Amino acid sequence: MARFNDGEVAIVTGGAQGIGAAYAKTLAAEGAKVMVSDVLDVNNTVNIIKQAGGEAIGIKADVTDDKQVGEMVSKTVSQWGRIDILVNNAAIFAQLKMQKFMDIPEDEWDRVLRVNVRGVFQCVKAVVPEMKKRKYGKIINIASGTVFKGTPLMLHYVTSKGAIVAMTRALARELGDDGIRVNTLAPGLTASEGMVRAGQFKGAMSEGNIASRCIKREEVPEDLQGAMLFLASKDSDFVSGQALVVDGGSFLH
Ligand code: NAD
Repeated sequence: MARFNDGEVAIVTGGAQGIGAAYAKTLAAEGAKVMVSDVLDVNNTVNIIKQAGGEAIGIKADVTDDKQVGEMVSKTVSQWGRIDILVNNAAIFAQLKMQKFMDIPEDEWDRVLRVNVRGVFQCVKAVVPEMKKRKYGKIINIASGTVFKGTPLMLHYVTSKGAIVAMTRALARELGDDGIRVNTLAPGLTASEGMVRAGQFKGAMSEGNIASRCIKREEVPEDLQGAMLFLASKDSDFVSGQALVVDGGSFLH
């Protein structure tokens, strides 16, 4: 039986491609109705879900734009009447080049923090009133294994994802009484479309990551499906404020 068989509705940000698209497809395959949003065109993800027999709609929305985030929420609610699951996946990541922290320009620092941290805050603020109405919700914030490993040469990115882990914990405390569970999913280095396109999968970075794992192979977006379904579904109803690292056993805690 499908995991989401009670009309559950999910929003996935950054769902046009890569890992976000995989989350959207996974949730839809398990019966959730999915709003796919991104600054890019989301039609491809929406069409794939529909062709597979699932329900999805899409919107072009920048997570740092309150008006667009508001439209993302109102379009979802007018279509399906509720929001149960929010996956905060949108981020600036694959396009970033690795560089020493001394070389990171201030405007790039600001852009990464604005999207990766403030964008999550804005989406949570917009969605929570809908979740509160039903006294239930699942917020899954996407961080990164880099936080726990202290990965060098991406200080703005690692800092932004560290903030996500902290934000998740504090939000989980604030929202528990409303029945809203907030957790972090932290992937390891994953061969997403964006990463492969950006050429991030060649050389020592990828090889070093694989060597550091208990399960010594490349991570692919599908490796995150099980953890996403766990955190989005009733299976994790007594889990909140946690960080689940899915990286083949590279970081152990
Ligand atoms: P990606 O950069 O390919 O995809 C991110 C998506 O977010 C893109 O579709 C992009 O258009 C969208 N986006 C960017 N700015 C946006 C904005 N302002 N508003 C709305 N959408 C916006 O990255 P990915 O590899 O698919 O990673 C997805 C998530 O997983 C990100 O949060 C990333 O930080 C995290 N992550 C990725 C890896 C990896 O190795 N691929 C590892 C750990 C964590």
